[in-house]
Amino acid sequence: MDFASDNASGADPKILAALVAANGGSFPAYGADPYTARAEKMLCDLFERDCSVFFLATGTGANALALAALTPPWGAIFCHEDAHVMDDECGAPEFFSAGAKMVGLPGYKGKIAPDVLRETLAAYPRGLIKQVQPASLSVSQANECGALYSIDEIAALCEIAHAADVKVHMDGARFANALVSMGCTPAQMTWKAGVDVLSFGATKNGTLACEAVVFFDKTLAEDFDYRRKRGGHLLSKGRLLGAQMIAYLEDAHWLGLARRANESARKMADMLATIEGVRIPWTPEANELFVIMPGRMDAALKAAGARYYDWGARGLRDAEKPTADEVFVRLVTSFATRDFEIERFVEIAGASSPA
Ligand SMILES: *Cc1c(COP(=O)(O)O)cnc(C)c1O
Repeated sequence: MDFASDNASGADPKILAALVAANGGSFPAYGADPYTARAEKMLCDLFERDCSVFFLATGTGANALALAALTPPWGAIFCHEDAHVMDDECGAPEFFSAGAKMVGLPGYKGKIAPDVLRETLAAYPRGLIKQVQPASLSVSQANECGALYSIDEIAALCEIAHAADVKVHMDGARFANALVSMGCTPAQMTWKAGVDVLSFGATKNGTLACEAVVFFDKTLAEDFDYRRKRGGHLLSKGRLLGAQMIAYLEDAHWLGLARRANESARKMADMLATIEGVRIPWTPEANELFVIMPGRMDAALKAAGARYYDWGARGLRDAEKPTADEVFVRLVTSFATRDFEIERFVEIAGASSPA
């Protein structure tokens, strides 16, 4: 019963098989191979645009290098205060941008509201010598609370950012989960709404280790080759990234994997909701489920070997917050989640219900 994260599982077997197949033969190194070229072309086709695409092995690398491409050392990177780029990357965006300042914005369910962005940008006037200069905005889709921005919400944030000459980055570590939930096209969820650069995650949804940075505005990517190499993120055997991405995208495989993960979260939420004492503050919108449960239930689940993280209640409204006898936890499902893990979890939770 592993619901700690969607990267707790290994690679999807089809993608792993493609990796093994690409292991044969010899090809030019550093991304000058036919696998990389084909994967780049597939992403451009997917996004219906001539993009600049770069493959890397980690999401932190993708985010930090993408933000560095948008942000000078004296710049500000705006993001939600609970964003992965803010809290979970060990200062990589600050490091790779050579010292930019992260500015965390509050917001319910991990989302930045347009008015909050507008007010924050007004507090960072361009040209004020004693302050960092507004440079980039990062939004996560799906976000750290498992929530989604609608296309209109993305467009509204992009419009406000662009009016202040601020570029927009999307952290798409769970891009596929968001996309299948929204039922829109990849283009609609990104550049058509105003997003300038995307971290296109794939590792959490089935690759072994492969992420892409996709620049919709190619002029922003002019120095990215150097940033990636200098940052130690240019793989010499680049074909192994290309091969993973091809297998991931081919025949809409990635969408099937994401659908499975999302369905598991929804199923788990529906089952848990019937248990007395369990509160589900947010209907899962992708593959993350947040639950408030009695401490006794949490203890029984953990004693039975269930793995998941306790979560900070900052994103909850006061009325939703856990009481002293309750805990707030995050459960993440993936393409590899099996029904019996969910059923067992629900069974143990039900057995320790106060009812
Ligand atoms: C997992 C995750 C990433 C990428 O993290 P890595 O561990 O560096 O691959 C980025 N953003 C979000 C929101 C994530 O959940």
